[in-house]
Amino acid sequence: MQIEIATLFPEMCEAVLSESIIGRARAAGHISVRCWNIREYTLDKHRRVDDVPYGGGRGMVMQADPIYRCYDAVQQDIGAKPHVIYMSPKGRVLDQQRALELSVMPHIFVLCGHYEGVDQRILDEIVDEEISIGDYVLTGGELPALVLVDTVARMVPGVLPENLCFEDESHFGGLLEYPQYTRPAAGAAHRTPQKHRRMAAGTESGGNQNQTPRPLCKLFGQKIAVFFVGFEQNMQVHQFEKIRIWHCCHVSQRLKVKGRKVLSTRRKFRKKRKILQKAR
Ligand code: SAM
Repeated sequence: MQIEIATLFPEMCEAVLSESIIGRARAAGHISVRCWNIREYTLDKHRRVDDVPYGGGRGMVMQADPIYRCYDAVQQDIGAKPHVIYMSPKGRVLDQQRALELSVMPHIFVLCGHYEGVDQRILDEIVDEEISIGDYVLTGGELPALVLVDTVARMVPGVLPENLCFEDESHFGGLLEYPQYTRPAAGAAHRTPQKHRRMAAGTESGGNQNQTPRPLCKLFGQKIAVFFVGFEQNMQVHQFEKIRIWHCCHVSQRLKVKGRKVLSTRRKFRKKRKILQKAR
């Protein structure tokens, strides 16, 4: 898999991507990640890449031309059209499922915005999707791009020792990971639970059948809390809708296959939602 990051701060991305698991995977050739400096593609003698918004408004906007030229250079270099992602707080919030889908794509081009964002023509003409890493705003797209690349790259074959390393983790398949402990069982502060010590004995004799993943209910509970806190804080209707839709589409879908207890949580949640909707 090949990932191209277009940014005004390539050193910032390189610093992170050269370290640890992703750094080793790049060195071993399991994944290719390259950083392209958008500033190299401006024709301005002062190397400017931003301008005031056409028609007025606050702040500066990244110009379309340097981004086009950078994108063209990438396309020519790889000889194919990459899937283009713009990191944006307005985009679809990244989740494990989308990261998994992206991890099987051959070429991804990740565009990092800065200032007030990028000229809309770029979004209209070259961007395939906008991805957000959460409902808050950062100063630039570099940290979001690094989050995206990290989560996608670790699911590319060869990056981790085996697929189980990520399949067995929280959110993959809609479950949360089981609790984990280290030796010694009786440490200075706390003792490892009895149940876990029995489990460890089982592991030593060759099985890990007791490591049952925990269902999503705990996470579901946390998200409900966010949902109601948000409502209480009088959030704007569109933000409220975004969370509501997230719950309906993602959580309910995954819960379809879970036990009765979780389904009854869902029913209670629906009931509360109706009450809240009436209150609106
Ligand atoms: N004016 C934009 C708005 O209100 O939607 C915010 C621009 S932000 C200050 C600058 C850049 O940071 C964006 O173009 C985007 O690339 C990146 N960015 C900020 N928050 C982000 C988030 N939550 N997810 C992904 N990218 C984000």
